[in-house]
Amino acid sequence: MSGVTAFVYSDDYLNYQFGPTHPFQPIREKYTFDLLKDLEIFDEKAKHYKPDPASEEDLLLVHSKDYIEFVKKMSEKGRGYLDYGDTPATKGIYEAACSVVGGNLLAADLIMNGKVSHAFNPAGGLHHAKRDRAAGFCVFNDIAIVTRYLQKNYNLERIAIVDIDGHHGDGTQQIFYNEPILKISLHKYGFGFYPGTGDVIEIGDGPGRGYSVNIPLPEGTSDKTYLYAFNEIVPPLIKKYKPEILINQFGVDAHYQDPLVGLSLTTKSYEKISSTMHELAHEISGGRYLIVGGGGYNIKNVVRCWTIMFVTVSGVRPKNTQRYEELFDPEIKEEDRTLEKVKETVERLKKMIFPLHKI
Ligand SMILES: [Zn+2]
Ligand SMILES: [Zn+2]
Repeated sequence: MSGVTAFVYSDDYLNYQFGPTHPFQPIREKYTFDLLKDLEIFDEKAKHYKPDPASEEDLLLVHSKDYIEFVKKMSEKGRGYLDYGDTPATKGIYEAACSVVGGNLLAADLIMNGKVSHAFNPAGGLHHAKRDRAAGFCVFNDIAIVTRYLQKNYNLERIAIVDIDGHHGDGTQQIFYNEPILKISLHKYGFGFYPGTGDVIEIGDGPGRGYSVNIPLPEGTSDKTYLYAFNEIVPPLIKKYKPEILINQFGVDAHYQDPLVGLSLTTKSYEKISSTMHELAHEISGGRYLIVGGGGYNIKNVVRCWTIMFVTVSGVRPKNTQRYEELFDPEIKEEDRTLEKVKETVERLKKMIFPLHKI
């Protein structure tokens, strides 16, 4: 019963860039599109859609007027930083950031109007941006904006955000900390690691209590341990919460070859996560599954992981099966020493969170 899957992409995304030596390189989005075309994925079940940029009114769903004006001004100047040194203010970054957000809004409209069941915007997933400031390469929080957009335009009440980026989805958590929007983030956590938040004890406040769910993982966490934690926490909470739509931040910087993070996932995890999320979307959320990108700083790996995810979700089998199979990593045989520690974390988290959801 799988419907159409949209690949939402515009060349405008390529302007969301911070210079040739910066780790964040939007060309990975174009290369993913190119590889999917090479694999002959696009047909009646998988379609490309080109978004328009978001408007200032859309940004105001989440961000303050002052902050939006600041980004505009800095974008015209094209010098300095939008934060304390991670996110440069390059020329035209405002318009480029609007195109990223526009991708999410088109994805949401396509899903909600029934044109597609699933949609992927590889430029989205900028989960560190706060209401009134940029952070960690993220200018506007497209995840939070599309959540507000779905509330406002489609009257959705139960929206779940599952964030698998190697870093904590701190901006998204902060924006919805007091609201019953289910946010689950799996990420590396440890002394000195960016952004420093995302401990188990951050569970939300007021009506949001129990709706911020953090799975902090130690350096070196590999497929087996990661998937154990994912499967113990994510499906039970989604099944209980019954979201009307599933949003999945699909940053792939937890991959073992990523230069910035230090988790040890292979393509196997990304295939399993996308198939589990896809099944959950059909079982619980009427198939409505919106996927956004996120981190990923080894371009070739990002392209492989996103392509595997898109193929898995769309259900379209690539004609060149050998080329597709070559995208997968070999299995890592090394022993993973993190399982016991992660089991403890998962048990602690279950004790805190599951009673709040009567699981
Ligand atoms: Zn489907
Ligand atoms: Zn990241």
